[in-house]
Amino acid sequence: MAAAARTPSPLALPLSLGEVEQLTRWRRDLHAAPELSLHEHDTQDYVRKALLDIGFSPVESLGGTGLVVRLGRGDTPRCLLLRADMDALPVHELTGLPFASRTPGRMHACGHDGHMAILLAVARRMFAHAQEISGTVVFAFQPAEEIGRGALAMIEDGLLERPKVDHALGLHLWTGLPTGVVSAVPGPVMAAVDEFTVTVRGRGGHGALPHTAIDPIVAAAAVVQALQTIASRRTDPLDPVVVTVGSIHGGTAFNVVADEVVLRGTVRSFSKALAQRLPGLLDEVARAAAAAHGATAETSYSRHTIALHNDPTTTRRVAGIAASTSGVTAVDDQMRMMAGEDMAYILDRVPGCFFFVGCGGEGAEPHHSPRFRIDEAALPVGAQVMLGAVAAYFTDGAR
Ligand SMILES: [Zn+2]
Ligand SMILES: [Zn+2]
Repeated sequence: MAAAARTPSPLALPLSLGEVEQLTRWRRDLHAAPELSLHEHDTQDYVRKALLDIGFSPVESLGGTGLVVRLGRGDTPRCLLLRADMDALPVHELTGLPFASRTPGRMHACGHDGHMAILLAVARRMFAHAQEISGTVVFAFQPAEEIGRGALAMIEDGLLERPKVDHALGLHLWTGLPTGVVSAVPGPVMAAVDEFTVTVRGRGGHGALPHTAIDPIVAAAAVVQALQTIASRRTDPLDPVVVTVGSIHGGTAFNVVADEVVLRGTVRSFSKALAQRLPGLLDEVARAAAAAHGATAETSYSRHTIALHNDPTTTRRVAGIAASTSGVTAVDDQMRMMAGEDMAYILDRVPGCFFFVGCGGEGAEPHHSPRFRIDEAALPVGAQVMLGAVAAYFTDGAR
């Protein structure tokens, strides 16, 4: 005899037309009013009002311009964090959309407007069915993702402590995937983002008398080449790493040997062991390459975000839920990228899943482009997968 079908949780029922319209309205309002990292004041006010209108109270400020609300009976210690980021970029929007940015030089060019709208839609649905939550759900609206500082600021303000969060979910709209495709990949998904500066010093002189000077430009050229051998010769090819020199500055005239050259760049990696090794390796290679030309190299190295690792069990559950969610046509379990994401700091402390919701397809513009635009049909897909994952977390013990 077949087992009786379980009644689906009201949390996971398809969004109504009214819910989708509200979700789209929220997204368009937020899209028109982008603010930069750590300056999300109007955004904070807008989201606070939306949460108060839904019925949440209190709405707590956290991490500066972030917001948190909590929901549930709290009758078990289980506590699930749902997170959306809030900030926009210093990009001048060129989409020509009727709800395009009203602020010149500022644009929601990464989709964080959509992330906030999706989390509001999820919060609204869950508020109406709070009795389904046998524990606590924490809704976190996080500032300053683009500069890698918001998640840490909220964690330092106690985001994961009151009550103690045991799992976390987050999503990113992704134009690199067509609408309908969801990507939930176990393990490392997004890279550690590091920034470095190498100052190559020589001794300035006459361009016609190189033997009386030490040319830091030739030395810097050697350093640029040598840094590429970190990826090709010094690290395991199965442990990905990218080294990019993004800027070179040195010299003042065609016939003068410069005194110094400054290189700036970024290093990306996945594994913790490699991330630990990289600052020393970069320094060693830069010094040696410069020394071969009689110059010196001094490096400074800082980490913006650590790599984002998805918990395999949670992620497989989310993938399974996505596969049976209406509007989802395919679930990918392979997509990893060397871009960074500061939800990594949350997933470093509690297991969880950060998944991608396709909103692009053919002709889609990349994130951070002034012509970036999402297919709004992806918004309810993202909300639906999130709601399904929350329902499963509380009804199946899915973790
Ligand atoms: Zn971005
Ligand atoms: Zn983003």
